[in-house]
Amino acid sequence: PTEEYENLRRRIHSNTKELWYYVSHELGKLIHEENKEEKIQAILDQVADRKRSLISDEEKLPELDGYHEWRQMEAANVSDLVQRRLHYLQNPPDCREARKLICNLNKGCGFGCQLHHIVYCLIFAYATERTLILNSKGWRYNTKGWDYVFYPISDSCTSAYDDKVVQWPVLYDAKVVSLPFIDSISQKPKFLPLAIPKDLAPRIVRFNGDPSSWWIGQMLKYILKPRVAMQKAINETIAKMNFKTPIVGVHIRRTDKVGTEAAFHHIHEYMAHVKDYYDQLELTRTVDARRVYLATDDANVLEDARKKYPEYTFLGDASIAKTAATHRRYTPLSLTGLLVDLHMLSMCDYIVCTFSSQVGRVAYEMMQTNRVDASNSFFSLDDIYYFGGQNAHDRVAVMSNTGGKSQDISFETGDRIGIAGNHWNGYGRGTNKRTNVNGLIPWYKTADHLVLYPFPEYKQVPQ
Ligand code: GDP
Repeated sequence: PTEEYENLRRRIHSNTKELWYYVSHELGKLIHEENKEEKIQAILDQVADRKRSLISDEEKLPELDGYHEWRQMEAANVSDLVQRRLHYLQNPPDCREARKLICNLNKGCGFGCQLHHIVYCLIFAYATERTLILNSKGWRYNTKGWDYVFYPISDSCTSAYDDKVVQWPVLYDAKVVSLPFIDSISQKPKFLPLAIPKDLAPRIVRFNGDPSSWWIGQMLKYILKPRVAMQKAINETIAKMNFKTPIVGVHIRRTDKVGTEAAFHHIHEYMAHVKDYYDQLELTRTVDARRVYLATDDANVLEDARKKYPEYTFLGDASIAKTAATHRRYTPLSLTGLLVDLHMLSMCDYIVCTFSSQVGRVAYEMMQTNRVDASNSFFSLDDIYYFGGQNAHDRVAVMSNTGGKSQDISFETGDRIGIAGNHWNGYGRGTNKRTNVNGLIPWYKTADHLVLYPFPEYKQVPQ
């Protein structure tokens, strides 16, 4: 390692201790003091600044540790391998004879939800070595079908001819199998998200901090290829915006989602994280403008944000938001708008969103495909990352905890904890699978449990 790297590492170590010296000293003093309110605010501001400095330093480590180029190359190589395997699976030498999996795109939900439906089908196809056939006639976004807007997911095999179709689960090795929606599968196969292929895992974990969403992003990369006309429409809208970095993406999901599937979040909740991002960035560089790309299905948000935050430059298209607001949501026009928003969000340096929305999660999954590691480039105001219909998501205790201090539960090193969510206050909620006790867990004492599944290794495809 270089001298610069070692100095940085020592600086982070030393400044972590300095943070603690500061907090313990100031809070210790405060116990006996009057006028606490103002003083507490001053301490919080100081701690926030010290935290930003630590994170900023830590984020420079991978650029200086000597593996920066290696990570970039490895990420590109593994992605390329996955894409070639999918291409191989989707283009069998004899389509008529190939084993197939049928996926019906008649799910009555939004585009993010439908994309995730295809992702689920493609993972299923990859796991069972079947060519995926997408049935999309009468599709709600374009009645002519998926292939009218996007390139087909196969160059050479897009029909099951008139072979007999058997509904999954199948008791024998049927040639053509049709898949139900993920929500209505009773016994979920272990290869479904958040599992990743065992043969690729040792490579992915070395460059990416969230392999499950990286893997899902690879499926999207294969699926989502707009045809020339659609790409042209997207490019034209994008060309009108003055997109430049640094830029933070904000996704605000309102209308039908609020009150049914998610809580309402005020613009200032999003902007607090945008401010934190820029305050941190300004520790090490000058920022010409605090740009925000705002994507939303609420027609009033953009104007409201510009009024409330004049010190920020908001990019976004009010007409896209207007089209996205419920009644015209499922038209070809709204699809163009949504693809623009998804593309722009995924190009941002950082996004602030709600992972309860599939649009927010798709944007993050796309980010995972356009850089080496996006796992620290987002903040979700509500849920942690998940895939709708996924298998259980566990964390593993890396230290023991004696519960009871603040409704926290007891666990021992190695215990598996089924996760319900993170409260973003240092604690999450979960159930210790050994003791069956549910409660709060100090997040820092646990680590993500990555599920590895022995997917086929596609040895026919060169490494
Ligand atoms: P979810 O309901 O948020 O989980 O995601 P879905 O994609 O399933 O459905 C939401 C639909 O609302 C999308 O498909 C879009 O039609 C629309 N929508 C939501 N947020 C946005 C946004 O930021 N921009 C645009 N253009 N449309 C959005």
